[in-house]
Amino acid sequence: MNFPLLKVENLVKHYPLGGGMLNRNGPVVRAVEGVSFSVEAGETLCIVGESGCGKSTLARLLMRLVDPTDGRVLLEGTDIAKLEKSELRHSRRRMQMIFQDPYSSLNPRLTAGEIITEPVGNFERMNRKRREELAAELLKKVGLAPEIMHRLPSELSGGQRQRLGIARALSLKPSIIIADEAVSALDVSVQAQILNLLMDLQEELGIAFVFISHDLGVVEHIGHRVAVMYLGRIVEIATSEALFATPIHPYTQALIAAAPLPDPTMVQLEVPVEGEVPSPVNPPGGCTFHPRCPLAEERCRINVPSLVAMPDGRTVACHVRAPAGKIEHNQPGTSQLVGGLA
Ligand code: ADP
Ligand code: MG
Repeated sequence: MNFPLLKVENLVKHYPLGGGMLNRNGPVVRAVEGVSFSVEAGETLCIVGESGCGKSTLARLLMRLVDPTDGRVLLEGTDIAKLEKSELRHSRRRMQMIFQDPYSSLNPRLTAGEIITEPVGNFERMNRKRREELAAELLKKVGLAPEIMHRLPSELSGGQRQRLGIARALSLKPSIIIADEAVSALDVSVQAQILNLLMDLQEELGIAFVFISHDLGVVEHIGHRVAVMYLGRIVEIATSEALFATPIHPYTQALIAAAPLPDPTMVQLEVPVEGEVPSPVNPPGGCTFHPRCPLAEERCRINVPSLVAMPDGRTVACHVRAPAGKIEHNQPGTSQLVGGLA
């Protein structure tokens, strides 16, 4: 059987508010509200959206650092919730994570060499010589000098620490890495170096990435496909080219319109979006974007739109732009649909 490397089915995460676990019917934070996608081997899927839309919760669900309220995460066809503890350890080998702030995720009392060989040490016995060889090899892979293995995290720069975090993630030869805002804390020039390193590693090792970021410039640089999140849901998934050239969902358009353009030949879309992101404790009914949407109609206030496949392969959740059951699948491209938008 040919399974996608990673498949996520209708993932939901509600956090109880205040009342804790006992009050089943109490108010909840709807952090992730029915997210589905898949990632193929060697692919980069970016997840983009504003702060608070549920990106980090999604990352934690993928790694099973938190239990889902509903839905499944399948790694090569296997439901990770059904794994025994020892098997979960092995699935963690194949799925690794890198974080926004490597400093808080690196043990300050261990040397760089100890930090990056620790995960492998949990699986196999290593003498000192083997440890140092492995550390030197991993440091080289991420563009750091072998001498660094004797330093403490506090003696390294932000970029070096992020490289160290990447080396540690690579140490178990994962097939997929979940990166949550992995370059967001770095200077722009260092960001570019780390993104290029990740892309080189992907080419060399065939690693897939779920790359989470609030920064569209970063996403455009690194993503093969992009999923746009709003209030815990995906509103559009498309190839990076299609998404940036012809965004379809009004929220995607608004995000791109609000971002500074790296390519001045691109057309700046004008979609006025007013107001603040509503609270995920009491989200609007129907399409949760409707109170801010310039296109909202009556049905948008009532029904939640489902993700509809468009002729060019992308999927969009919008009653107006992607009405369910009305898309002509033999249309060449989406130019007709997109034409009237800008
Ligand atoms: P993002 O990473 O996109 O900024 P998060 O996943 O961190 O978003 O948060 C999504 C929503 O869930 C936010 O409203 C946040 O306050 C809430 N949230 C996140 N973690 C918890 C938690 N452990 N308990 C309660 N609410 C949480
Ligand atoms: Mg986050």
